[in-house]
Amino acid sequence: MEEQAVIIVGSGPSGLATAACLHRHSIPYTILEREDCFASLWKKYSYDRLHLHLVKHFCELPHMSFPPSYPRYISKNQFIQYLDDYVSRFDINPLYGRSVESAEYDEASKRWTVKARNVTGTSGDQAEEEVYFGRFLVVASGETSDPFTPDIDGLSRSTTTTAKIGVNQPEVIHSTQFRNGEAYGGKNVLVVGSGNSGMEIALDLANNGAKTSIVIRSPVHVLSREIVYIGLVMMKYFPAGMVDSLMVMLSKLVYGDLTKYGIVRPTEGPFFMKVAYGKYPIFDIGTCNKIKSGEIQVLPEIESIRGNEVVFKNGNSFHFDTIIFCTGFKRSTHKWLKDDDYLLNDDGIPKQSFPNHWKGNKGLYCVGLSRRGLYGASADAQNIANHINSLL
Ligand SMILES: Cc1cc2nc3c(=O)[nH]c(=O)nc-3n(C[C@H](O)[C@H](O)[C@H](O)COP(=O)(O)OP(=O)(O)OC[C@H]3O[C@@H](n4cnc5c(N)ncnc54)[C@H](O)[C@@H]3O)c2cc1C
Repeated sequence: MEEQAVIIVGSGPSGLATAACLHRHSIPYTILEREDCFASLWKKYSYDRLHLHLVKHFCELPHMSFPPSYPRYISKNQFIQYLDDYVSRFDINPLYGRSVESAEYDEASKRWTVKARNVTGTSGDQAEEEVYFGRFLVVASGETSDPFTPDIDGLSRSTTTTAKIGVNQPEVIHSTQFRNGEAYGGKNVLVVGSGNSGMEIALDLANNGAKTSIVIRSPVHVLSREIVYIGLVMMKYFPAGMVDSLMVMLSKLVYGDLTKYGIVRPTEGPFFMKVAYGKYPIFDIGTCNKIKSGEIQVLPEIESIRGNEVVFKNGNSFHFDTIIFCTGFKRSTHKWLKDDDYLLNDDGIPKQSFPNHWKGNKGLYCVGLSRRGLYGASADAQNIANHINSLL
């Protein structure tokens, strides 16, 4: 049993940023992390070609700039190096292999009781339960904590029982398991999902000679990085609606009408959709050209999967060797966070709207859950540390 002023759940960039801000106020804290390293999303669960989508100065964590030698758009490895330096600079030492399974508030002692399984060097039921106490609890477990794959007719059959009935089955993975397209040259690969991961993985596959198809089910905005940059700068001075209109106008100028390629522009603006539904625009880095040239085939929603054969809603069907689900993530905060009816909804997203989303009741906070990327996480971390400091 350990007692600390602040308990932080998660050591991604949000948890690290909060730790650094608390360190600057000399406030003691403990970070509990279920994985065996910090920033596990970046170190273990992302593809090789990943670069930060936004210009670097929108992605810095508090109190430490990126090295001036870093390019405008930072690679995954450069970002990891920056986080390594960040952790050293602010002397951050997460407790690894601690999977938080419950956090409850005790009215009598006015503190949070957090139970975690210590999974280091053990497996399953042998993991030891540890208990931590803290006056403040910071939820930094990420918007992307649990990979999500949709229920599709035939999917489980094709992946679990087809061997029994003698039908070939495709390799099925989630985007978090994809590293690069090298192994896929010449193969028929279907990417399901047209978020930024899906579009970039499709590009990587096509560059490596895979016969690539992508399912684009719903309308999506396609913007270049430069258009996004103009938009972010303008957001400081102009109303969001006006910026959205300009974004759409620039997208039309650069990309034209993409309907004939299977990409439909939404009626609502890109920034509005990001904040309202968490639906990011595509930051295009070349996928659109490959779609226009026919190197990447766009397909509609999947109806069913029968072994290697995927049937689409328009009645067509194609054979695939591999299906990569880039269908996003869910959050499981509701499973372990008790005594909160104010801060987070059942999906682990703040109930309160920006800018009041980070502060709950009874010393509870959340960081990095407001769909504002690293920029939003940095602001949350500073707000939380300043608020805790004022209470102490
Ligand atoms: C492919 C990809 C690219 C992205 N690119 C950008 C970008 O360019 N710019 C940008 O601003 N954002 C980007 N994002 C958004 C991304 O979510 C953030 O960049 C960042 O990683 C969020 O940090 P976080 O600490 O909030 O969450 P995470 O990085 O997900 O970290 C959360 C941590 O909490 C741990 N955890 C979860 N549950 C528990 C538990 N119960 N017990 C203990 N530990 C737990 C997890 O293991 C994890 O280490 C990207 C996301 C993805 C998936």
